[in-house]
Amino acid sequence: MKGQERGLKHLTKCPLCKAKYSHSQASVLEENEMRTVFHLTCSKCNSAVLAFVSSSQQGIVSLGVATDLTGQEAKKMIKEKPVSPEQVLKVYEYFNPRS
Ligand SMILES: [Zn+2]
Repeated sequence: MKGQERGLKHLTKCPLCKAKYSHSQASVLEENEMRTVFHLTCSKCNSAVLAFVSSSQQGIVSLGVATDLTGQEAKKMIKEKPVSPEQVLKVYEYFNPRS
């Protein structure tokens, strides 16, 4: 199984309107051993989402973050400013506050 498919299986819904994603709407911005970054556009609410999928010892961790960037812009941003695992974790904690 390819990493891309494995990762996207965990991100099946738009975080904003909960519409189900069609994976054909996803484009891969970055892919390596540790992490895959997708850009998805929801067909229902037209929101763009950046999805980070990382492999960790606990398994696959995926997270979607709403963005104003188009796929092209996001690609450029990621190339210029690689996102560190720490940043991803920060975003994750922001969206999943510990109670
Ligand atoms: Zn949506």
